Amino acid sequence: MAPIDRQRLADLLEAERVRHRDRTSLSKAEFDAADHLFGRVPMTWMNKWSGGYPLYLAGAHGNRITDVDGNEYVDFALGDTAAMAGHSPEPTVAAVTERIGVKGGVTTMMPSDDAEWVAAELTRRFGISQWSFSLSATDANRWALRIARLVTGRPKVMAFSYCYHGSVDETFVIMGPNGETEPRGGNVGPSVHVSQTSRVAEFNDIASVERALAHGDVAVLVMEPALTNIGIVLPEPGFLEDVRALTKKHGIVLIFDEVKTGICTARGGAVERWGVVPDMETLGKAIAGGTPCGAIGGTEEIMAKVNDGTVFQVGTYSGNPLSMAAARASWEQVMTDEAYARLNALNDRIIAGCDAVCAKHDFPGYTVGISSKGCVNFASGKITDYESFIKEQDADLVALAWLYNINRGLIIAPGREEEWTLSITHTDADVDLFVDAFEELVRDVTA
Ligand code: PMP
Repeated sequence: MAPIDRQRLADLLEAERVRHRDRTSLSKAEFDAADHLFGRVPMTWMNKWSGGYPLYLAGAHGNRITDVDGNEYVDFALGDTAAMAGHSPEPTVAAVTERIGVKGGVTTMMPSDDAEWVAAELTRRFGISQWSFSLSATDANRWALRIARLVTGRPKVMAFSYCYHGSVDETFVIMGPNGETEPRGGNVGPSVHVSQTSRVAEFNDIASVERALAHGDVAVLVMEPALTNIGIVLPEPGFLEDVRALTKKHGIVLIFDEVKTGICTARGGAVERWGVVPDMETLGKAIAGGTPCGAIGGTEEIMAKVNDGTVFQVGTYSGNPLSMAAARASWEQVMTDEAYARLNALNDRIIAGCDAVCAKHDFPGYTVGISSKGCVNFASGKITDYESFIKEQDADLVALAWLYNINRGLIIAPGREEEWTLSITHTDADVDLFVDAFEELVRDVTA
């Protein structure tokens, strides 16, 4: 196709911004009046929504969100995957209500019987037998890295360029022009330069992994088995197997951060889908029906080395009975094996729809999907890692995609091209709305 007309893109952006402001004036007024919140929001990421200010929540059920202006949206962002069970799924609401109200007891620092049930279910799904819990995925990763350093006696953490594992200092890495470990932007106040704590490699580039490991000081490789924070980048055939073999050869702990892939890739996450079992697994987001919960899994061999009391995991709310009740209800009644079969069918439908739009309009984009998640990469070449991702980024087009969706009653995550996450409450009709809005965008941009 011919290059996108930049003037046309700028005009469309301006028109959609005006339309968005007109539809969401009460959200804008709340934002402008928030003088005592740092950045005007409870968490600074919230002011990164592409409209320039966040939409203020009125309520959310299933896959529908209502804002304070009374607009209803079909939610394809789902709290960045955390609401994959749908907003406020009934079994989870019932379990939480029973725990907090009928039975009582949230902050006792005592285990409830739900915890062992949840750990056994995670073992069944992910093939790793020992679990403990945290309150967030970030905390799960911090705990897993400490264990890995203890077990190997080595100091360094290895991660892939531009990865995201939560606000974990050691993982804010990018690869410099000569392969060196450089700090990624956005980290605040690291105690030392990241090259002192970490080594970096490039996803899908096994030679770069080998080079980093050759130094002999790496304790652990923490990685997403498929990258989910730059659109979606799947592992090339054989890459995960090669990583597994190399980490074994060097005695390095391999952690799969399945915070997103664990819930959205398959019933048993990437472990099930690609058949590669790591030494440790970290989970979060939707594992407790949308209530705060993270999980850390390890093989018996690894966890036995920690279990002598050398290290003890703390956290007032970690593994609290409320999160455990919510997690049990969600795994048992909502995110069931059958639910995954349905998600796969829905995802096939949305992928086919978006592929057809790209083909019909000769649009330089291609889809990537895993079970409940997917995206259209606005790219002429294949994206295999961060370097190829950033080369293809068109910030204006990404912003326009977000605005087209929001103005047509669909929420997608900001800054990530045309990306969707499906909950088990989405229907064929919801998916078709997404494809229709995408077609309108492509048609207008290429007209
Ligand atoms: N790991 C990955 C892969 C993530 O995408 C995220 C959050 N987007 C985290 C960890 C951190 O999760 P949380 O903010 O819930 O602690």
